[in-house]
Amino acid sequence: MHRPDREQNFAQTAIALMGECAVAPTPENFELFYAYASGANPSMTQVVGQMIAARTPFTEGALAEIRLRCQSSARAARAMESLGGGMSDVISTVLTKLEAAGKHAVDYSNTLSAATGTLEEEQSPADLRKLVDGLLAATHAMETRAKALEGELQKSSEQVSELRGKLADVRKESLTDPLTNIANRKAFDDAVRDAITAMAETNEPVTLLMCDIDHFKKFNDSWGHQTGDQVLKLVAACLTENLKGRDTAARYGGEEFAVLLRNTQLSDACRVANQIRLAVEGRKLVKKSTGDVLGVITISIGVAQFAPGEVLETVMRRADACLYGAKQNGRNLVIDQTDSRMAKLEAAA
Ligand code: GH3
Ligand code: MG
Ligand code: MG
Repeated sequence: MHRPDREQNFAQTAIALMGECAVAPTPENFELFYAYASGANPSMTQVVGQMIAARTPFTEGALAEIRLRCQSSARAARAMESLGGGMSDVISTVLTKLEAAGKHAVDYSNTLSAATGTLEEEQSPADLRKLVDGLLAATHAMETRAKALEGELQKSSEQVSELRGKLADVRKESLTDPLTNIANRKAFDDAVRDAITAMAETNEPVTLLMCDIDHFKKFNDSWGHQTGDQVLKLVAACLTENLKGRDTAARYGGEEFAVLLRNTQLSDACRVANQIRLAVEGRKLVKKSTGDVLGVITISIGVAQFAPGEVLETVMRRADACLYGAKQNGRNLVIDQTDSRMAKLEAAA
């Protein structure tokens, strides 16, 4: 329901909160804080509420992360809800039609039984003629209804197919990062679950790459967040171009990408990681609107292999440590869990 007073309140709360939290008054940020103020998006309410309570600063990265995590899932949930409504409308229409058809079939069968009863009695030719005419009319009416029903059921079945298509789209959307069009965190976690199951069954090696853009903050500061977003798309494209088959590349956080390599040993994973790194480094960046040459973007990658029975968090921590090692050793670098530079880092810690 449209309630202007409440909406006005939400808007005022959102603006006041943005001021208190030193958040830039952009439309995107307003949308986020409005959703928080209205409580329309429970996961966002929780995340933003915790950040306000803990006085965690709303940096651009943090805001992008909240958007990434909460807004797309809320959109998907809303779409699912409306699809569910559409589906139950179609089903109740079909049921009503079938019920009516059932009733007509019973009427028709009653007409036939009555005719059988009448035939058992003595009939004049004129009465017989009347009876046959009546039966023909009833049969004809039944045929017409059956045809109409067939048409309507056909229409319903088309509606169901259309809804099924939309459901597939929503499902895809709920598993895709809207900016880069590659898998999102949820899709990645699902892929990891499948890989862990396969690993337990077949012993196939599975490796994880954690990739992070180097000095991305500086890039955003120099060229703007929107141009930064184009870089995220470019990195995502470099990932997918260098993967095959059952591998999964995902945007795991704001400027962080995770890659799951199936049936891949650590040494091969490092080779793939270096291919990706070189692909990113090799892209010439030009700002479309101005033709400005934006220089070169590089990424650092940490590589870790799943040991039998290990959960994602453990392997991810190891890959993250390697990624940190790559940053410490000058960036634009791939470091894996067996790299001697990791031992030096651990010794220093
Ligand atoms: P490092 O080489 O150590 O990774 O440095 P960095 O500047 O990349 O790392 P830092 O963690 O300091 O900054 C990450 C930046 O990523 C901050 C934020 O502006 C940017 N970022 C995160 N998410 C997004 C996004 O969705 N779009 C854009 N354009 N930038 C983002
Ligand atoms: Mg980072
Ligand atoms: Mg970075």
